[in-house]
Amino acid sequence: MITPFAVFEPVRIGGVTVSRSTLHNWDEIERKDIRIGDTVIVERAGDVIPHVVAVIKDKRTGREKHVHPPVTCPVCGSAVEKDEGGVAFRCIGLNCTAQVQERIRHYASRAAMDIAGLGEKNVELLFSKGLIRHFEDIYRLKKEDLLELPRFAQKSAQNLIEAIEKSKTTTLARFLYALGIIHVGEYAARLLGRNFRDIEALYHVQPDRIVMIKQMGEKIADSVSRFFNDPGNLRTLATIKSEGVNISNPDYEIVSSEKRTLEGMTFVVTGTLPRSRKEVEELIERRGGHAAGSVSKSTNYLVVGDDPGSKLRKAQALGIKTISYDELVDMIKSEGRLF
Ligand SMILES: [Zn+2]
Repeated sequence: MITPFAVFEPVRIGGVTVSRSTLHNWDEIERKDIRIGDTVIVERAGDVIPHVVAVIKDKRTGREKHVHPPVTCPVCGSAVEKDEGGVAFRCIGLNCTAQVQERIRHYASRAAMDIAGLGEKNVELLFSKGLIRHFEDIYRLKKEDLLELPRFAQKSAQNLIEAIEKSKTTTLARFLYALGIIHVGEYAARLLGRNFRDIEALYHVQPDRIVMIKQMGEKIADSVSRFFNDPGNLRTLATIKSEGVNISNPDYEIVSSEKRTLEGMTFVVTGTLPRSRKEVEELIERRGGHAAGSVSKSTNYLVVGDDPGSKLRKAQALGIKTISYDELVDMIKSEGRLF
């Protein structure tokens, strides 16, 4: 996240000398029409970081300069892009040192590469000790280095090294989610996995290729394309692969073997089923269907288990078809094992 701030002539407010304040984001700068060289009113309330309340426009000389949003990251030089909220700018550089902690925490999280032991506290510790400066450094951690840190003993150091090693065998969907590409959550990552054979097939991808995928819009297409056209990111990906990360893509195989029997249908699952809800939703998605979290007019089927909740009432009110778990299995008509 790239946050703009103002630097001004020191001024004393409430007994404290203040010479800089946050400007929050570029929308705020535009809204308040803040320019370089302006005279401003600064407020500081309690321990809150001081902020610019307004510009005194009468004091303008005509030499003030407009502030433009950044085009590249001031730290690593990669391109920047508006984030999910649409107001803040984020650097797309996978290897950017300014966001390495945040990126690694996400990369290691359970739904991503699932590396136990690389949570917030340990990432912070490894960063503060200089053991991780870049994203790819997690693959260069050594047990001896960990043992010198206060939070690690023989066993925990060994466990972390083993968890990293184990995580090297992964799927394309997980890996894509782990990369933290703006707008790419778990579901979008799975869709990309279905449509691209391997990670290399995404290198230098153009937005129009991604927009062709049903359920993918322009925003996500631009973001994915920009990520995979960044030379620094492609270098980092090559490094990660050379460290032994092995990415299979079972989602793509399903497409090619014509098993997408639920293509284009939206399901909602409710109540207690013979399998966990997550497993049933994964089954639906593997067969090309979409598993939604709540009932709406676009729901095709409600899969009902024991003790269904308010979703059943809502589905009945909307006239949505309800089916049992067994009926769902029949719909799939799989010749092999389902799970
Ligand atoms: Zn950067």
